[in-house]
Parts: sequence; C-alpha cells; structure tokens
Amino acid sequence: MAARILSGKSIADAIKAEITAEVADLREVHGFSPGLTVVRVGEDAASAVYVGSKVRTAEEIGIKSEHLHFPAETSQDEIIAVVEKLNGRNDIDGILVQLPLPKHIDEREILERIDPTKDVDGFHPINAGRLMQGYPALAPCTPAGVIEILKRSDIEIAGKHAVIVGRSNIVGKPMAILLLRENATVTICHSRTADLGEITKQADILVAAIGRAGFISGDQIGEGATVIDVGINNVSDAEIAATFFDGEELEKRLRAIENRGFTLVGDVNPKEAMEKAADFTPVPGGVGLLTVAMLMKNTVTAAKLRRRI
Ligand code: NDP
Repeated sequence: MAARILSGKSIADAIKAEITAEVADLREVHGFSPGLTVVRVGEDAASAVYVGSKVRTAEEIGIKSEHLHFPAETSQDEIIAVVEKLNGRNDIDGILVQLPLPKHIDEREILERIDPTKDVDGFHPINAGRLMQGYPALAPCTPAGVIEILKRSDIEIAGKHAVIVGRSNIVGKPMAILLLRENATVTICHSRTADLGEITKQADILVAAIGRAGFISGDQIGEGATVIDVGINNVSDAEIAATFFDGEELEKRLRAIENRGFTLVGDVNPKEAMEKAADFTPVPGGVGLLTVAMLMKNTVTAAKLRRRI
C-alpha cells in the first residue's frame, strides 16, 4: 500500500491560524504587535525566495516585519553594527540573519552577536545549550516543525526508534534533542557512519537531512516507517528525475525542469519511499512549509518571553 502523504500545508496553515489569533490577542490585550527583522546580505537567489516568503507570511499573520537587504560587499563590522542596533530596539522581538552569508563574513560571529532572546532561528549557542539541557528555549524552526508534523499527524514518538541522517547544528543535532525530549530512542548518522542502510532500516521514524537528492533508497527504509524528508535539492537532469518519479508526477517534474531549469527533490527517493513507508513528507510541500510557520511561532514566543507575558 502506498504511504500516507503528510501534507506540510494543512499543518502549517493550522499553526499559522493559531498564531494569527495569538498575535491579535497581543495587540488587543497588550497593545503591541510582535516585530521581526530579516537581514539578508548579497544576492543568493534561494535566500531571496526564502526571505520573501518569511516576510509575506509575517505580514499575513499580523507580525510587523522588516527586510533589510545589504550588498554582498558589506563588511563584517557593518553587519555586526546592524545586528547590535536591532538588539537594542524595543519594537523588534525577532532577528533573523538569512544564511548563507558571503564568504568574507564569519557566520558564527554574526549569529553569536544576536541577542539570544531575539534569536528566532534558534541558532545561538545559548539557545542550543538551553535546548540541550531542557530549559525553555527558542528551538531551530525546521526540527521544531518536524515535531509538529509528527504530533499533529498522530504519530507516536515515545518509545520509538528515531534515526536521523545528518548532524548539522541547524537540523540534525537539534532534531535529535527534540526527539529525545519526546522520549524517542535516538540514533544520529552522518557521512562516516558504517552500514548506513542497516541502521536506517531499523527506524520507526527516519529523518533525512543530508543535502543529496534522493540519497535514501527504498532498501534503506524499513517496512511501515514514518519518513520525514528535510532535504531540498535542485535536480536539473531529466534522467535523474526519472529515477525519483513516475507517471503524472514525473511529467510535472520534467515540465518544471524545462520551464525553470530544475525541480525540487528531497534527500529520500520519493518513488521508493512511497512503496516502503507508512507515512512520508513530500518535497516540496512538506517540512519546508513548517519551517516558516515555526519561525512565526518563535517570534511570538520571543515577544512574550522578553516582555514577560
Ligand atoms: P549540512 O550540509 O550542514 O549537513 C549535512 C549532513 O548530512 C552532515 O551531517 C553530513 O555528515 C551528512 N551527510 C552528508 N553526506 C552523507 C552521506 N553520504 N551519508 C550520511 N550522511 C551524510 O546540511 P543541513 O543540515 O543544513 O541541510 C540538510 C538538508 O536539509 C539540505 O538539503 C538542506 O537544503 C535542507 N534544509 C531544509 C530546510 C527546510 O526548511 N526544509 C531547512 C534547512 C535545511 P558530516 O557531518 O559527517 O559531514
């Protein structure tokens, strides 16, 4: 039987509706709207799309949003000055510096300069440490979104074996902490893991956050697993696309390659996952939509925590 598709859209819409109500309440009862500033440096095309969607969603929800865009040659000190100014503004509850930054800028230093109480991406070491130790913290949006997908799709986490492929600070590691917090038994895999498929096959919940199109094949997925595909990769080769899709979906993907030069594919082979998994998140239309919704949720959480509401 084909896997159940876990639609990111309906879950993200439900979260956005809840936050819209919360923002309206903050405005009516407490007299302010949360504020979010997104800082973008340079001309990365994907970043421009992501920032556009974050700012648009914030506006739909009633969060005051600001998009500051700087040329690629802006210096590290200038970006630090921007961040520090935002740290000091009382009307700004969330600061997000869109990654990647141009090569001459030290990403770590910039992220560390963001006031941790305004760090709505949850990348500051203080928030990572708080999350690790179980204190209230702003958690990174993508793994937090994965937890929402699982919970709102009534997928049991406690006692299950969750296998995560990927150990980045923005997805893999915080994903492991969040699943652990939900009482899963967690295994983290990475590029040096031996016999990857033997481990991923044991997963009740398999989270792929690798950055390689269709990397996880059907024989690496256990029968009846829940497969969460975090990956977002551009595929521009029609022959490769044909190894991931068939029928009408393949036609749609080939049209996308023809019209805009690429189609988006996750880190899991979708055709094979559909045959083995019980539940599967599509790309696009899965985890990515939750990332933006959770950013809005973090902005509201940050506003309430900082203002002690
Ligand atoms: P990184 O490149 O930072 O991390 C990739 C991880 O995958 C690393 O830990 C790496 O291992 C591991 N890996 C690479 N190759 C292999 C392999 N052959 N076998 C096993 N593990 C491997 O990526 P991110 O975590 O930032 O992103 C992962 C994916 O998720 C990307 O496709 C990205 O576009 C997508 N993404 C999607 C988001 C969304 O909103 N849906 C948000 C953020 C990311 P090692 O540490 O050993 O190098």
